Amino acid sequence: MMVRLSGSLRTPGPTIARSKCRPWPVRSDAAPSTGPFPDHLDSGPVSLTLGIVGLPNVGKSTLFNALTRSDVLAANYPFATIEPNVGVVPLPDPRLAELAKVFSSVKIVPAVVSFVDIAGIVKGASEGAGLGNKFLANIREADAICQVVRVFHDDDVIHVDGRIDPLGDIETVNTELILADLQTLEKALPRLEKEARNAKDRQPVLEAAQAANAVLDSGRTLFSARTEIELPLIRELSLLTAKPFLYVFNSDEGALTDEASQQALRNVIAPADAVFLDAQVESELLDLDEESARELLESVGQHEPGLYSLARAGFHTLGLQTYLTAGPKESRAWTIKQGATAPQAAGVIHTDFERGFIKAEIVSYDDLMAAGSMAAAKAAGKVRIEGKGYLMHDGDVVDFRFNV
Ligand code: GDP
Repeated sequence: MMVRLSGSLRTPGPTIARSKCRPWPVRSDAAPSTGPFPDHLDSGPVSLTLGIVGLPNVGKSTLFNALTRSDVLAANYPFATIEPNVGVVPLPDPRLAELAKVFSSVKIVPAVVSFVDIAGIVKGASEGAGLGNKFLANIREADAICQVVRVFHDDDVIHVDGRIDPLGDIETVNTELILADLQTLEKALPRLEKEARNAKDRQPVLEAAQAANAVLDSGRTLFSARTEIELPLIRELSLLTAKPFLYVFNSDEGALTDEASQQALRNVIAPADAVFLDAQVESELLDLDEESARELLESVGQHEPGLYSLARAGFHTLGLQTYLTAGPKESRAWTIKQGATAPQAAGVIHTDFERGFIKAEIVSYDDLMAAGSMAAAKAAGKVRIEGKGYLMHDGDVVDFRFNV
């Protein structure tokens, strides 16, 4: 049987509470949101996560609170966050509201990005100091590292090293991660050498591990050297610094409006993504109606919540992109890896759709909007039929055909 899918099917999985989905701060008694997500919003499962790390008192809990509207303890002392917590935030996507208008969709379902709040890191974490071991185990499970760095000045909030020094803090955290990786390699290398002597195909793995060791020895993360080393060969070692990095600079108003200092920090952490936001402001936004929230953001030189940029940067850091489906029931963004093929994209909706994939009817979002309706896009020759080898593009609006 050939089946058509027009965005009306849902994968079974957790649905996040509506209150957690509104990216724009709206109190329950405030006027209805006119932001990119209407109230009838829903979301599906996530598979990839960013682990939030950083020194104590840099604002991790404050940021996490803002991310999730959850009540993670944000207290002014180290190790306030002991248990890891997962926060799921929607990826802002104004295209969905436009699609919903064209298709008269009842519901909008955005893609989501998931963050895990991991316990604070201190010098010596790689040796199991503080919550070191727990920290390392949690971070190993994350797909990317979101490092929160303190840029804000506040004499009431103690800095563990007694000074505000973003680059020094990054070095402290990265050194612990690098030391942990060196320990992993110290154990693994003798085993890999033995394996390479017995099996030729293990030689490239050994060489990649040796190259990684040299990079770490020189004080660099593996992510920053990812073009120099065959990292996929040593994925089995779960090295921490091989994960993609994203830096969140928790800034005050002065830092948010200082383009030159921001660029200097960006240059140091490149090729990793950088996000500048004020975690305190982000959490205060939650208690305001939209108008007051906008005023507060503008007072610190921002045009949109920092969480929007964070969600986008997180998505990018994880190597993800979205494609869209639309129909009367819902307009929805689906998460796929960059470079995913059409059948793999269909598989995100249901594994049967990947197995039974026949073809995909695809129109780019821009072409669809320019035409004004699916019928007009078809008439203009903008709707393509793509086969199994098609590589998906971000913003493809898709209708899959498959056999079940
Ligand atoms: P964590 O230890 O990294 O999780 O840090 P917290 O989120 O618990 O923050 C430590 C303290 O710094 C708390 O008292 C927060 O209210 C305060 N804080 C967090 N972010 C900011 C910020 O952007 N500006 C200012 N002034 N204080 C902040």
